[in-house]
Amino acid sequence: METLDEKIPHFIREIITEDNQTNKWDNRVVTRFPPEPNGYLHIGHAKSICLNFGMALEFGGQCHLRFDDTNPVKEEDEYVHSIIEDVKWLGFDWGEHLYYASDYFQQMYDHAIILIKKGLAYVDDQSAEEIRHTRGTLTKPGQNSPYRDRSVEENLDLFEQMKKGEFPDGTKVLRARIDMTASNINLRDPVIYRILHAAHHRTGDDWCIYPMYDWAHGLEDSVEKITHSICTLEFEDHRPLYDWYLNMLEAYHPQQIEFARLNLAYTIMSKRKLLQLVREGHVSGWDDPRMPTISGLRRRGYTPASIRNFAERIGVAKRESMVDMAMLEFCIREDLNKLAPRVMGVLDPLKVVITNYPEGQMEELDCINNPEAPDAGSRKVPFSRELFVERDDFREDPPKKFFRLGPGREVRLRYAYFITCQDVVKDAAGNITELHCTYDPATKGGDSPDGRKVKGTLHWVSAQHALDAEVRLYDRLFTEPDPGAKEDFLSLMNPDSICVTQAKLEPALRNVKPGYQCQFERKGYFCVDKDSTAENLIFNRTVTLRDTWAKIEQKLI
Ligand code: ATP
Ligand code: MG
Repeated sequence: METLDEKIPHFIREIITEDNQTNKWDNRVVTRFPPEPNGYLHIGHAKSICLNFGMALEFGGQCHLRFDDTNPVKEEDEYVHSIIEDVKWLGFDWGEHLYYASDYFQQMYDHAIILIKKGLAYVDDQSAEEIRHTRGTLTKPGQNSPYRDRSVEENLDLFEQMKKGEFPDGTKVLRARIDMTASNINLRDPVIYRILHAAHHRTGDDWCIYPMYDWAHGLEDSVEKITHSICTLEFEDHRPLYDWYLNMLEAYHPQQIEFARLNLAYTIMSKRKLLQLVREGHVSGWDDPRMPTISGLRRRGYTPASIRNFAERIGVAKRESMVDMAMLEFCIREDLNKLAPRVMGVLDPLKVVITNYPEGQMEELDCINNPEAPDAGSRKVPFSRELFVERDDFREDPPKKFFRLGPGREVRLRYAYFITCQDVVKDAAGNITELHCTYDPATKGGDSPDGRKVKGTLHWVSAQHALDAEVRLYDRLFTEPDPGAKEDFLSLMNPDSICVTQAKLEPALRNVKPGYQCQFERKGYFCVDKDSTAENLIFNRTVTLRDTWAKIEQKLI
């Protein structure tokens, strides 16, 4: 699998290296990626996947894919399938190590009984409201529950009845008996089990009590003999509880290590908010090419290597930061530059008539497929009297530093001829409908024998040979760098995040299939959308090329 040659040092790599030197885990490295199947994976998850699978690969260990499916209400099989597809697509392999937290429900229950027998857990009859109320605050200690001192026998009996379904939802919980005055609120008698009469996507109606995250997660890690349990920073305050459970149970005890989650500018990472975008129809689905999901990025034309390289480049740190979208775009350009054949496509067509080119004549010109990959060869592209060029490549009154076409100006048509604009044709409303140009037959191939130079080179397609295609151009989904910080994030959606154009493409693209990727010269990298057919071609723009004129123009404004 291709990844960056250069490994950027980070503290987790150092911890594992040191653990191997001191033989802390008998030289084993076992990590896991533990998604909750309550949504599709996003680019933040990709960071975690690349880290967990990457460390396992690098140190000759293994990484488990484990579905953390302990909350039946929000979890669905659709999400399980999408997660499997996305992790595979990123290039990682868990071998036989595919697990479900729900497979451990019996073990979790048995361990809860151990805690009860040790006098370290009790059944509490208080309501959720009362429990919240008596938990205290950062400055105020909590209060003991009146049920805290129930006998072991009574607790065992009540817990069994909870499991048997003898109590309605919310009437009882099992709590750890730790310390209601602990400075860490997570240690103030946290809930271990709650009653929830809900069908689970895998265990059906077998259970009506479900374990809480902190209880479940450490046990899952322990059962699977994980060595390094890597998670995001918000779990730092939960580590004492993770450790307390495993210590009290005298169970195998992995090391939890926290790192900073990925935040990407101008987008959101919360699954809850992404789900809202999908449910309310603000995007076309989880795989809308504007979404930061892995399936969205895939449909947009991102490659697995570009995402892995991105994950390596952004590094792994202890402090939160915001990564610029430009970094992700750099990584995909870098990859597609090597892979993507160059073709010509005109996104906003303006007709050009070459008045001194014979009517009815056609010739095929040689065009290089990829200057970065000499083995990619060349292809023939038809040229004729009527062409399309980009409307934006012509200005009636060209500003300074605009080196493209204007009245009386000469430019090169890529791989074809020099042309000079002689006439601008307009309709009654004053809109430009056509340019009349002349060509210089001596410049065939794009160079002049007399050595005269032109400053602009334009792409083009022959009008009669052109294919029609729908091209979707994307911009960022939100107008502010950190939309997730606002609860009303929907008000920050970019109304211009998608722009659909009717483009004219060179005929070589006639039979391209969904997923096909290419560069439209000067316009960016594109890929064929999954809904594209031979009759109705659809291309998504993955990313633009760096456009020097657009930059100059922006500065002028
Ligand atoms: P959300 O907070 O949006 O509900 P989550 O973090 O709870 O998402 P999980 O399915 O629990 O989603 O995530 C699986 C793993 O991916 C966890 O180990 C989590 O730490 C990691 N992860 C999630 N988001 C990010 C992120 N933005 N950057 C890095 N890792 C992440
Ligand atoms: Mg989570």
